Amino acid sequence: MHKIIFGNTQVTPSKIVCIGRNYVDHAKELGNDIPSEPVIFIKPNSSISKRLSIGSKEPNHYEAEICFLVQKGQLVAVGFGLDLTKRATQTRLKEACLPWERAKAFDGAAVFSKFVAVKKEQINRLSLELLINGERRQAGGVDLMLFKPLVILDEITQFLSLEDGDIIMTGTPKGVGEVEFGANFTGKIMIDDEVVVEDSWIAE
Ligand code: ZN
Repeated sequence: MHKIIFGNTQVTPSKIVCIGRNYVDHAKELGNDIPSEPVIFIKPNSSISKRLSIGSKEPNHYEAEICFLVQKGQLVAVGFGLDLTKRATQTRLKEACLPWERAKAFDGAAVFSKFVAVKKEQINRLSLELLINGERRQAGGVDLMLFKPLVILDEITQFLSLEDGDIIMTGTPKGVGEVEFGANFTGKIMIDDEVVVEDSWIAE
């Protein structure tokens, strides 16, 4: 089983619960309707990777997301994540009203920074930034989310049990695109203006 890092400990998520279309500007850039309830899908533990892959056969597209680690039913830590997506396959499946696993749940489809502890009262002040080769490509925060993290947590647990170590990915702001070979990705999570998480990957 794949692990992520929280402080000095290794944690094994049983699953990653992802939210789609949670930023209005991103939903519009993909031509999607604005959802009246959170769009929820799952990536398995086997999708977690420390490496950022450009994808074989079909390119991977990046989606930078604020991610939470769940313990005892609470959002206890925050990290930066890339929800890697086979966009052409996803578009084809969406049009056919079919499930998205081929586009979202493949090996290597979830890349995470380390996680750091976050207090409940800090959650609504979180934001993210994605730099590619030093250029800002995505930025956004909880203030722009249609469904805020605590609402998402409540919505998920209406029908799905979260185990200790599970991760929630909260959706991506506008600016998604293709992962290009050799590109230097830097992801940051901020509380107000203070950077609390920063990690980098070279696309391979
Ligand atoms: Zn996403």
